[in-house]
Amino acid sequence: MKILAVRNLKKYFPIRSGVFLQVTGWVRALQAVDLDIEQGVTVGIVGESGCGKSTLGRTIVKIYEPTAGSITYHDPDGHVHDITRGLPRKVRATFRRDVQMVFQNPYDSLDPRMTIRDIIREPIDTHRLFADSKVADEYVGGLLTKVGLYPEYARRYPHEFSGGQRQRIAIARAISVKPRLLICDEPTSALDVSVQSQIINLLKDLQRETNMSLIFISHNLDVVYHMSDRIIVMYLGHVLESAPSHALFDRPAHPYTQALMAAVPSWNPRYRKLGEVKLEGEPPSPINPPPGCPFHPRCPHRLDVCDRVMPEAVEVAPAHLCACHLVADDTARKAKA
Ligand code: SF4
Repeated sequence: MKILAVRNLKKYFPIRSGVFLQVTGWVRALQAVDLDIEQGVTVGIVGESGCGKSTLGRTIVKIYEPTAGSITYHDPDGHVHDITRGLPRKVRATFRRDVQMVFQNPYDSLDPRMTIRDIIREPIDTHRLFADSKVADEYVGGLLTKVGLYPEYARRYPHEFSGGQRQRIAIARAISVKPRLLICDEPTSALDVSVQSQIINLLKDLQRETNMSLIFISHNLDVVYHMSDRIIVMYLGHVLESAPSHALFDRPAHPYTQALMAAVPSWNPRYRKLGEVKLEGEPPSPINPPPGCPFHPRCPHRLDVCDRVMPEAVEVAPAHLCACHLVADDTARKAKA
């Protein structure tokens, strides 16, 4: 069952300057992104910083308004709504409950003046989950236990907890309203390495238990591989490759994906043969992105056409899409042979 479909999504942020704050340019954070989320499935989004992966998560939960494109939400009754247009009040409330987000920095995401009880009770009360406050408090205690903390912690304040514990509290708050989709934006990158795997395992356990879907955003290929059923690789606001997790890691098609894998020490032995594509320098600025394939300034395989024409995504294997002229030529050649 589908929960969300993103089509041709664009998000541009204006750059303003001068006394009257005129718009003098645009940061093109998302450019024509497509994405489907099915019930119970984890989609990993990977790419270097500035590729647009966090903007994508924030645009889906409506922190940002999209510049163009559509985000269709399939409600629990099977009705379909485009959330980029105004939603009826009841549908808006259902969407806000159904789609929750866990942010990167657990130090910023919890209000320091509120007790843990009040932090977790906030969405529960907003969505009127319980008529009885005592029952709601017992539910909060159960949630804390579920995320590996003690119910007594409900009386404490965020500053009394470590980063890993705070992220557990943020997760408890997010799952308190039983969302069908949880968007995790780099949920482990601000944590000690020793704590990261605990949070990953917690999210996996919760997903198994509740069958919620996850969008897992990370720059860490290892983590994304272990979490995801499907992975999309982003670069300068574009989706360059999208495939089932095992297919992407067994047969990465796009030169950028290959370079990402060759750059990770733990993947190096497996992908040494791909070492010819090295990630050197920084990605170009999204204020002034290059024409054609966004990866062409760093790609050792670039063809004449690459700096002029943005490649279309082609299916190189079932459900495995890749946007690269070279790969498209190879695929067409193989199909003819
Ligand atoms: Fe390299 Fe061209 Fe493929 Fe882009 S389209 S990744 S520049 S070969």
